[in-house]
Amino acid sequence: MSRRPTIVAGNWKMHKTLPEGEAFLQAFLPRLASRKGTGCQVVLAPNFTLLAAMRDPCRAAGVGLAAQNCHPEARGAFTGEVAVGMLAAAGATHVLVGHSERRHLFHEDDDFLRRKVQAVLAGGLTPIFCVGETLEERTAGQATAVVGRQLRAGLRDVASPAGIIIAYEPVWAIGTGKTATTADAQQMHAFIRQILGELLPAGGAGMPVLYGGSVKPGNAAELLAAPEVDGVLVGGASLEPEDFLQIVAAGDRAAAQV
Ligand code: PEP
Repeated sequence: MSRRPTIVAGNWKMHKTLPEGEAFLQAFLPRLASRKGTGCQVVLAPNFTLLAAMRDPCRAAGVGLAAQNCHPEARGAFTGEVAVGMLAAAGATHVLVGHSERRHLFHEDDDFLRRKVQAVLAGGLTPIFCVGETLEERTAGQATAVVGRQLRAGLRDVASPAGIIIAYEPVWAIGTGKTATTADAQQMHAFIRQILGELLPAGGAGMPVLYGGSVKPGNAAELLAAPEVDGVLVGGASLEPEDFLQIVAAGDRAAAQV
């Protein structure tokens, strides 16, 4: 039995205007408040423009608020970028680092992401550090080598596992409707835990490892039942309150088993 928290996080990507985000919360938060027991931890990752408006309602509801990106520097001539201190002041509690869309569409490399992890930790926020292989890499039998490299590089300067979340998101499963089988997810999560054991004090104990990639109301419970899957990072299915509530309910059931 794991003592790691169960986490259900929603990544809204570049979706929702401010009124749309507020409408989501109006539908979502009262239903969330009606849950019984302690349940899973819920985190929402809206775009930057929604953070400040979502801060108070999310804080009151015990919902974490994640930024989707940050710059590793604290300030300076980096037009279009946002520093961790700015995100914290706007209400962010978490920051996604290394999402596959950042790695592949915006060419962010391992060392840049290592610097972001450090900046998020230095700013007192929780990085949700994303790793995952492409289809080509999986087909070539390189999935574990790639994920191992991403973890070793990104966590190289991390002194303590406290306050870090890992998300395993196979690139071929993100936004495609294809999901890793529970057995595949379990196998990769066990591998990730082995790497964390090598890299971090106390073997990275307590560090949650989430699965992401086309998680839906229909497959969340099965994925969350895998012993090494501590939660889910949900893209498309987090945009509709009803779908996301169903995934949170699956997270609550998984949390009750921990
Ligand atoms: C994501 O954006 O992290 C993600 C997993 O997206 P989706 O659930 O839509 O595949």
